[in-house]
Amino acid sequence: MTRYDLAGIGMTSVRARARFVDRLAEKGIDHPEVLDAFSAVPRHIFVSEAFNHLAYSDQHWDKALPIGHGQTISQPFTVALMTATLLDRPRRSVLEVGTGSGFQTAVLAHLCERVFSIERLEPLLLRARERLEALGVTNVRSKLGDGHQGWPERGPFAGILVTAAPWAVPRALLEQLEVGGRMVMPVGGDEAQELKVYDRTADGFEEQVIEAVRFVRLVKGLGT
Ligand code: SAH
Repeated sequence: MTRYDLAGIGMTSVRARARFVDRLAEKGIDHPEVLDAFSAVPRHIFVSEAFNHLAYSDQHWDKALPIGHGQTISQPFTVALMTATLLDRPRRSVLEVGTGSGFQTAVLAHLCERVFSIERLEPLLLRARERLEALGVTNVRSKLGDGHQGWPERGPFAGILVTAAPWAVPRALLEQLEVGGRMVMPVGGDEAQELKVYDRTADGFEEQVIEAVRFVRLVKGLGT
């Protein structure tokens, strides 16, 4: 028996989830596979238990829901937008920096062949692994580490998705992107961050800005 109520009930029921996916589509997410992934992954098991009932409520979309250890799950629209942006490109092997709750990891696992995910806070990493196991996800490898370094032994990656914001793009991550690959990440300070896209070409990198965003900081080193 798993300790997670995967099926959900009431505010976490299949019907609540379907409404949530409709809302994402209304807000402009038109990538059918991303919407499918959001239908398939029960978001309520990824937030702290006291907040399960708010996981699909659009009144809480702009507020960050806690996942413990001072961290929050990324807003659903942002997760959907980042995922859709990443999926425009090859999707064999994807690196995620900032496992957090594991929700974005589960969405990526649904859409990509192999997902590698790095988290600097061990309790969050262990909890995320437990959730992914409860969902029967088998194509994710995760490790405790500082995402600034990437995961060179597993790279280069077709896609890199970073879910915490550094002041400047870590060079190691650019280096671990394969030619033709795409990295999506927030960059900037506490107040003003931009969601950026870096496409690696044979000659270098092409950069685009998607929109203004607000993420937790990408912190150096491991934490407790
Ligand atoms: N994708 C997650 C987002 C969680 S918030 C989710 O939807 O739940 C960002 C996460 O990045 C936090 O868990 C934080 O601990 C982690 N993080 C911050 N700096 C990091 C670093 N240098 N390396 C790895 N993870 C980091």
